[in-house]
Amino acid sequence: MGCTASGVADALRAVAVVVAEHRAELIELDRAIGDGDHGENLNRGFTAVVAALDAKTPETPGAVLKLVATTLISKVGGAAGPLYGTAFLRAATSLGDKSEVDVDAAVAALRAGLEGVQARGKAVAGDKTMVDALLPAVAAAEQAAGTEGADLAAVLTAAADAAAGGYQSTMDMVARKGRASYLGERSAGHLDPGARSTSLLLATLAKAAR
Ligand code: ADP
Ligand code: MG
Ligand code: MG
Repeated sequence: MGCTASGVADALRAVAVVVAEHRAELIELDRAIGDGDHGENLNRGFTAVVAALDAKTPETPGAVLKLVATTLISKVGGAAGPLYGTAFLRAATSLGDKSEVDVDAAVAALRAGLEGVQARGKAVAGDKTMVDALLPAVAAAEQAAGTEGADLAAVLTAAADAAAGGYQSTMDMVARKGRASYLGERSAGHLDPGARSTSLLLATLAKAAR
């Protein structure tokens, strides 16, 4: 059994709640090594996502993710808007017109999202970006999906746990992409805000699937 369009929409509504709850934390993280707007940017974007879903929830999971993508691209701005927008757009394309997201489709969508972020932002592992949360998350999801009897909840929980670890690993990294890279060595000793938001997003999707 997989997750339908309304299940995916509910999970994204839950993401909006979590982003709002963590708005101040994301702002603080971005204030240390960026310009302090990450929490505000994402909160604005996901508030608009909820409004778009309220207006009309699309009929397939892929169409829901596409609506999320276009909304984030038009509302978020900065680095994260186009990056998250591209991730959701690639994930949407990967789902196509399937009526439900099963384990294989979810893993493929996560992989497509990561590839979108990397195609757009050119960040690799260790650059101290959201890629440092997303990359280990995708690897963990793929590994979990290969385990006997793994369901969507198990796969997304594995992804979320790996993303949390990846987020923590950004502490010691020197930023090589985005605004934080302007600080050079001084960016070390701080956690990356985009890796935090990616980790929150995946944790919320996992919780919604359980
Ligand atoms: P801005 O830096 O334009 O103010 P945000 O504050 O919303 O944008 O987002 C900052 C986050 O975006 C960073 O913490 C980092 O995780 C992510 N980021 C920035 N540049 C890149 C990139 N080239 N590739 C991947 N992620 C990036
Ligand atoms: Mg910022
Ligand atoms: Mg900014």
